[in-house]
Amino acid sequence: MKNIILLGPPGAGKGTQAKRLEEARGMVQLSTGDMLKEAIAKGTDLGRRVEGIMARGELVTDEIVIGLIEARMSDGARGGFIFDGFPRTLKQADALGELLSRTGQSLDAVIEMQVDDAALVARVTGRFTCGNCGAVYHDVTHPTRVAGVCDACGSTNMKRRADDNEETLKTRLMEYYKKTSPLIGYYHAKGQLSAVDGLADVEVVADAIAKVLDKG
Ligand code: ADP
Ligand code: ADP
Ligand code: ZN
Repeated sequence: MKNIILLGPPGAGKGTQAKRLEEARGMVQLSTGDMLKEAIAKGTDLGRRVEGIMARGELVTDEIVIGLIEARMSDGARGGFIFDGFPRTLKQADALGELLSRTGQSLDAVIEMQVDDAALVARVTGRFTCGNCGAVYHDVTHPTRVAGVCDACGSTNMKRRADDNEETLKTRLMEYYKKTSPLIGYYHAKGQLSAVDGLADVEVVADAIAKVLDKG
């Protein structure tokens, strides 16, 4: 069993690779972004509290996302967890370390997905997802086989994110560089960091991640 973090800016390909790892290895994706979006869609108190913050592209508080992760981790995962979009601050990283050690688990790898800013704009503005199964698509690099129909589940309920526009992406990138990129140094110092080229084709990125996972 392996527990890993996918670390990278918005649009780096974390969700795409997490879904593949779930299928290939029975791992469980824990995406705080997806959990928060679900809370908004359901109109819960939490959803109402975070809606404006997310629309602006800012980070929600550490307490909120740590609480979400803690609740989901208690369900366990036979094939290991893929932390996607969490941790995003040093405080979240420390909290994750404590949660894992408290439950007798370890963090096996932190995979930094390297993509340059210019590519991120194209990635994010072309992104759409299946509202039924969560499959991730792209207008240019990964369209559905039949326009408007999900390859994976056949649903026609395709969604675009309100925060996937160039203006909000600027704020999200700034948040990433200010608050999340210090985690690269943090995990490097702990000897847990591996970098992969996120600009490569989806399959090539998947192979690079598989190499990291099968190494140790
Ligand atoms: P992306 O896939 O583009 O990186 P996410 O779906 O992970 O974006 O996150 C969407 C939004 O949810 C973020 O812009 C932020 O407002 C909020 N969010 C998600 N995860 C976290 C986190 N770990 N800490 C703080 N805010 C978060
Ligand atoms: P993140 O979860 O890091 O925000 P996503 O996995 O949602 O990123 O990917 C962002 C967009 O880029 C999606 O539209 C996805 O289809 C596309 N994408 C992901 N990985 C690649 C890749 N290696 N090459 C080209 N496009 C990609
Ligand atoms: Zn689907």
